[in-house]
Amino acid sequence: MINNLFESMNFDLSKAQYEKLEKYYSFLVSENEKYNLTAIIEYKDVFIKHFMDSMLIKNIGIDINNKNIMDVGTGAGFPSLPIKILEPTIEVTGLDSLNKRITFLNQLVDTLELDNCHFIHGRAEDFGQDKKYREVYDIAVSRAVAELRLLLELVMPFVKTNGYFIAYKSIKTKTELNDAQNAFKCMKSKLVDVKEIILPEGFGKRDLLIIQKMGNIEKKYPRKAGVPKKNPL
Ligand code: SAM
Repeated sequence: MINNLFESMNFDLSKAQYEKLEKYYSFLVSENEKYNLTAIIEYKDVFIKHFMDSMLIKNIGIDINNKNIMDVGTGAGFPSLPIKILEPTIEVTGLDSLNKRITFLNQLVDTLELDNCHFIHGRAEDFGQDKKYREVYDIAVSRAVAELRLLLELVMPFVKTNGYFIAYKSIKTKTELNDAQNAFKCMKSKLVDVKEIILPEGFGKRDLLIIQKMGNIEKKYPRKAGVPKKNPL
């Protein structure tokens, strides 16, 4: 049943990949109370709303093979870890300001035997100023973290020039895009496309915003932790 739904969305997963998703599901549910990870815990809901939704990046014409991907505000590993299961050649760095989520993620990748996954604890505003992480990623992703104008300041500093940020958005896409015009300019970025995808079984719509970085960002961005939220670009 779940296999059919994934196939209907053009995901051709092997038995081993489904087994990893099953293990991910079991570990997520068993650790959820301890780490406060997600409100979605029913099997089908997790498979579609978390796993399939995360994987949609594979269907938008962006080549992710062997790419170095940063996930800002990764939480329980969404969207980067389902993408890693789908495309094992990628290298993932997941950033989150809640340390207990980082503990969960390190245990999860050991359980799932996923290689080239790194997790860092802290705020995007701080890591975006750290030269080990600044402008080194081919692609950044982020889901359910902040409104777009704020998110651009948190995410774009991590992306290389000509690299992409794929923003997972849904209901307020148009308004958020209108509000983000100045942030696009400050972040030397442009919107390339918006791919609207309907999830099966009434799980709603996902908009994937394809944003490209066109040049280096001024050193003053990102501003100090808390400032982007208080005073968005
Ligand atoms: N991306 C995951 C998902 O789609 O399920 C988690 C979404 S959760 C609502 C937002 C996450 O972003 C939280 O885990 C929070 O700790 C993290 N976060 C929020 N602001 C952040 C910041 N400035 N830097 C790093 N992480 C942040």
